[in-house]
Amino acid sequence: MSEQALSRTIPVARPSFGSGEERAVLEVLRSGWVTQGPRVAEFEQKFATYVGAPYAVAVSSCTTALHLAFLASGIEPGDEIICPSLSFIATANSIVHAGATPVFVDIDSATYNMDPKAIESAITFRTRAILAVHQIGLPAALNEISAIADRHGLLVIEDAACAIGAEYRKKRIGSPHGFIACFSFHPRKILATGDGGMITTSNELIAARMRRLRQHAMTVSDLARHSSSQVLVESYNEVGYNYRMTDLQAAIGLVQLQRLDEMLEQRRELAARYSRGLAGCKWLVVPHEPAESQHNFQSYMVRLQGDAPLSRDQLMQELLDRGVSSRRGIMAIHREMPYRNAEWCRKLPVTNLVTDTTLVLPLFHGMTNDEQDFVMDSIRQISAKYAR
Ligand SMILES: *Cc1c(COP(=O)(O)O)cnc(C)c1O
Repeated sequence: MSEQALSRTIPVARPSFGSGEERAVLEVLRSGWVTQGPRVAEFEQKFATYVGAPYAVAVSSCTTALHLAFLASGIEPGDEIICPSLSFIATANSIVHAGATPVFVDIDSATYNMDPKAIESAITFRTRAILAVHQIGLPAALNEISAIADRHGLLVIEDAACAIGAEYRKKRIGSPHGFIACFSFHPRKILATGDGGMITTSNELIAARMRRLRQHAMTVSDLARHSSSQVLVESYNEVGYNYRMTDLQAAIGLVQLQRLDEMLEQRRELAARYSRGLAGCKWLVVPHEPAESQHNFQSYMVRLQGDAPLSRDQLMQELLDRGVSSRRGIMAIHREMPYRNAEWCRKLPVTNLVTDTTLVLPLFHGMTNDEQDFVMDSIRQISAKYAR
């Protein structure tokens, strides 16, 4: 490692917590009500308003959100759900948790999202739903996907883990473009609560069912019992889960939600600055934003062209040697042990290419122009070093 790397390493991502979040946590601790309670209820309301959805249900993660979404929409063992392989593994795991089978389709090489043209040939008599992933915060082609779903009587569920504040046709993701959308508040996402997730839906019955299932299928919530002047006795009519969000997490989420627009604006500015600054590097492809979609830049991912003078892994090492952290781009689920099979490798050429040639550059709230210039200068230096 060079001296520079030792003295300065620019992280790839960093959650942004301030004194507002600290005060909010202290208040909850002192209130004596730490798990799902009044702060969770308030966070749900404000989140629903923010994205423009009638209902929001808070849970422990996006993975549990997706699991509940599948259960509440009637997905059963043996059903097939179409999804991209180019995604975080939780996308497929949540399908398996519901007893269903993920069927992978290839992606569009410009957006890195599911290619609608690849969906129809993957539909069988077992297909029940399409899981649209808005990868690293760029909305998937929801209009095209919904049209296919309508033609075949399929549900569209959105893995919006990365997509808070992203917009499709001028409406925020989670507003009723579709049926159910699931968000993540893991620290690698833009709004962070430690861990946590949110489900938004326009269907009242589904929202009510998910509220029961997340809390052991209890018919009366703790909060309702606590605030009732009459004795309420709950019952349990099915096997439920403990997928609750805590009030500690929700209190952080409420403060983060107030700061969200400012955080999104800064991300979009940093992303635009990267794309301008890296335009001269012909072997790097910067992110593409289709006219109907607004990216939230949860991650800023670049791709090495076929004529690049070095490999993705060499570029990552050269960056690290200069004190710049990066991460490989989005993984390909079909290459991991639980999902590996030769058929997928053959059917997903674009996914294979993109997962091998992409990397995520540093982008976080509070990143300075100096830090960003250092990243871009490093890439220019590396480009010159390898120029043929
Ligand atoms: C992060 C992520 C998840 C999982 O979110 P958790 O809240 O950590 O469960 C699921 N899908 C995608 C696309 C993600 O990026």
